[in-house]
Amino acid sequence: LHDYNKPICIDYGGVLNSRNLTFLKCPNCSSSSLSIRAFESIDNYDVQTGIVTCDDCKNWYRIENGILDFLPLAMRRKDLYKKFAENHNISIINDQIDLTIDSQKANQQEFFNAEADDYEKRVVNSRFSQVYDQTSFIDWLDRNKHKMEGLVLEIGCGTGRQSIPLGMRGIQTIAGDISEEMLILAQKKIENAGLRKNVDLIVFDGENPPVTDNTFDAVIIYGVLHHLKNKGNAIKNASEKLRPNGLFYSLDPHKSPVRIFFDLVMFFWKIYNEEADDDPLLSSAILTKWLSEAGIDCKIRLTFYLPPHLFNYLSYETGVSLLKGTDSFFNRIPFVRNFAGIIISEGIKHA
Ligand SMILES: [Zn+2]
Repeated sequence: LHDYNKPICIDYGGVLNSRNLTFLKCPNCSSSSLSIRAFESIDNYDVQTGIVTCDDCKNWYRIENGILDFLPLAMRRKDLYKKFAENHNISIINDQIDLTIDSQKANQQEFFNAEADDYEKRVVNSRFSQVYDQTSFIDWLDRNKHKMEGLVLEIGCGTGRQSIPLGMRGIQTIAGDISEEMLILAQKKIENAGLRKNVDLIVFDGENPPVTDNTFDAVIIYGVLHHLKNKGNAIKNASEKLRPNGLFYSLDPHKSPVRIFFDLVMFFWKIYNEEADDDPLLSSAILTKWLSEAGIDCKIRLTFYLPPHLFNYLSYETGVSLLKGTDSFFNRIPFVRNFAGIIISEGIKHA
């Protein structure tokens, strides 16, 4: 059993130690006064099992599999807390408080926890994702990585599709997702790639990440906004985490006038499951408005004019060339350029 009075201090690397704890905020009371206790650590470096306690509201948050569960009380998986508390002989406080649960967030959490394996197989590992990850995200990352020498925040990291490329470039990343099951898959991939010292995983509510303001060199929110109800608010909260001149990146499905054809193809030939918001598609106008309100100057980029199905039959190289070619062609034709399936924002926060 863990000796509760024995402080454990681990002073270097990773977020799950006392140094990087300064970048986190209690998800329930927003206090930055947090302490960490390790029950089990890896190489005396990264906490594998332990708790983070808020000195102000006294709530504690579990760390299991090296992943910190920093969900607000209402979104917690009570069964996991109960088991953890029993195993480590800790009592749960505030368990009886009546909490309002956001049903949309609860649905998203449930969907992605249940779909984690399938999502990994059908979306992350599909050729079409690999191709457009390269042209939409990796190219941007390689153009901008020299501006990310501090910390980067990834909101909605899923199984590590963007966190791993970030970590591989030596970028210190705090990556969070609403689904712990997705993060468990991400952690395995991060460990296999030897990137635990670069990427730290946290279960959190992407609409309101429990991290300090004015901190991050970049905030990446890839394929996430369309899952949220309050998208403008999520952008505003994400922007607050950026330091002045910090970079903002988002990618989502675009409100294209030919969307119906994509939906039709997906109806008859489904290549992945989706659980999005009722109003998931973003237009240039609305995205620009939200970003501007959040103090971000941005460039909107439209991409992807072909059905994703096609790319699953091509080699990676052919897919990348085809996507670059068709993007460059269609983006030159004024009306047709609005037919793009994906909308990307590349922004900079005002100084
Ligand atoms: Zn607190």
